[in-house]
Amino acid sequence: MYNFPKDDNILLIKNLFIFNKLTMAVIKIDTDKCIGCGRCTEICPDTFNLTPEGKAEVISEKDKDCALKASDQCPVGAIIVEE
Ligand code: SF4
Repeated sequence: MYNFPKDDNILLIKNLFIFNKLTMAVIKIDTDKCIGCGRCTEICPDTFNLTPEGKAEVISEKDKDCALKASDQCPVGAIIVEE
């Protein structure tokens, strides 16, 4: 097994951090607006979940493209996707 020199480890961690920043979005729900219709959970079941209180919640921020599709379909504009 290759042992990365210490400097390479730091570079590897920096690159992973940058990669995560480039590929992951910040996805939020405005729970004051959400009416709990469940449309977002139908479109992106791996990204959104409906809580017992009948509000959507974000369970993963990995799929920005799906979140954008759900945001387009949300009837009250409660899904915020920050790129
Ligand atoms: S589509 Fe919009 S209103 Fe419907 S559950 Fe999702 S966030 Fe709430």
